[in-house]
Amino acid sequence: VKLSQANLGSLPANVARPNYERAALTPGIVHFGVGNFHRSHQAVYLDELFNSGVGHDWAIVGAGVFDGEKVGRARLAEQDWLTTVVEQDSGHMSARVTAVMIDFLMPGDAAAIIERLSDPAIRIVSLTITEGGYFIDPASGLFNPTHPDIVADAQNLGTPKSVFGIILAGLIRRRQDGIVPFTVMSCDNIPGNGHVASDATIGLARLVDETLADWVRDNVAFPNSMVDRITPATTDRERGILAAAFGVDDNWPVFCEPFKQWVMEDRFTDGRPALEKVGVQFVHDVAPFELMKIRILNGGHATIAYPAGLMDIHFVHEAMENPLVRAFLAKLEREEIMPTVPPVPGVVIEEYCQLIERRFSNPKIGDTVRRLCLDGSNRQPKFIIPTIADRLKAGGGMTGLALESALWCRYCFGTTDSGAVIEPNDPSWTRLQATATAAKDMPQAWLAMEDIYGEVGKSAPFAAAFAHGLEALWTLGTRETLTRYLGDSL
Ligand code: NAD
Repeated sequence: VKLSQANLGSLPANVARPNYERAALTPGIVHFGVGNFHRSHQAVYLDELFNSGVGHDWAIVGAGVFDGEKVGRARLAEQDWLTTVVEQDSGHMSARVTAVMIDFLMPGDAAAIIERLSDPAIRIVSLTITEGGYFIDPASGLFNPTHPDIVADAQNLGTPKSVFGIILAGLIRRRQDGIVPFTVMSCDNIPGNGHVASDATIGLARLVDETLADWVRDNVAFPNSMVDRITPATTDRERGILAAAFGVDDNWPVFCEPFKQWVMEDRFTDGRPALEKVGVQFVHDVAPFELMKIRILNGGHATIAYPAGLMDIHFVHEAMENPLVRAFLAKLEREEIMPTVPPVPGVVIEEYCQLIERRFSNPKIGDTVRRLCLDGSNRQPKFIIPTIADRLKAGGGMTGLALESALWCRYCFGTTDSGAVIEPNDPSWTRLQATATAAKDMPQAWLAMEDIYGEVGKSAPFAAAFAHGLEALWTLGTRETLTRYLGDSL
């Protein structure tokens, strides 16, 4: 059955469908970055809420700034903005159609998006625009007001191009019209994602007008959140499984694990959906949850990604089936990462780590090693380097973290241990590849990328451990290097 509003009633019985009246939904949220994660996470929580009979004034309107997003929009337009979400692990597979998105503005049409943002019905603007979307200087972690896109938007706020230019233009309209500002709700994997979104919005405003910046600071809410659900990109494999197992023909389904988690601060300017009814945890301070998740899960992903990539392993669960990769993760987490994670209310950290190991091993989700290797230049400074900084501060060992860094460097050289070419897998690939090539003979060159390594790159003990790890990778290869690390003989 081709997925569409008209065909909802004739979907196979094993596909769950919305029980709410779609025509009765009204928009409450504009979402930037309609990718897979948004559709497996926020949209599913809202779908559950709408199914429970409440919150029907919080439907989603999609938005985006890149031309490339027109492809996704066209796919969704053909099926009336519906998405099939398939949850899978070894013992379970289920499919549901979510219908919480009721419109998707043309990507890049800033005027149309600003118009919608000035509608009082829109009370939340949410974001999944990737770690790289916030104009953060990686090493300092601070907003970079000299970024060309930000400078351009500051000079031309009538026709902004960045997400934050559009958000700010929308806020200005609301201020002029006397409408309560919307809440900006970041759902990206960044420590302090609300702070980072606020720094970008206020930082841009400051380039335009100091009083505007102060008004944003005093009147707009940017709650921090921890978001979690492993969600790979969609390929023909997923479309094929959906058609074969459920008989649904969906242009752009989402596959994900059954697990999902959302912990958020309860700071909203003009209300919010009653997400606590569907399992969202509202807390006073999300920082401990975020730190645990980003270090153990995202840091763990980075840990398995590069050795697996160098050993030509395709899927993440295959990486976890490899005894060396699995043991590397287990040892590095327990000896170096977990000791830097402060206590989290109601959580046993060791159990959290075991859960992560099980989730990474899920053989059905089809997550790829290449996806985990993507964008290290934006991810390492958030997922790994702060952990190294804490280990150095505490005088703890960091051999494993230095090896993780060396594995990333070795990967960016652009070939695997078998000599296979690694296609560019980072927005800064050209620079990374050149630096990784120089680092082969001069490891210090890698750590001299100050925008990525910051102070950590200047630490002598770290530099020594990194150089040792990298040399081992080049002379012994990944397998033997991991074997020695695991035997405490690297
Ligand atoms: P995706 O590639 O499917 O979607 C990303 C979307 O962001 C796309 O629409 C893209 O065009 C847009 N985008 C990218 N860079 C941007 C920029 N600079 N400005 C504005 N828009 C930009 O990726 P995804 O799987 O949906 O993941 C998106 C983000 O969600 C991740 O980077 C992460 O922060 C968060 N997240 C993802 C997962 C996951 O497992 N996929 C889990 C937790 C959190």
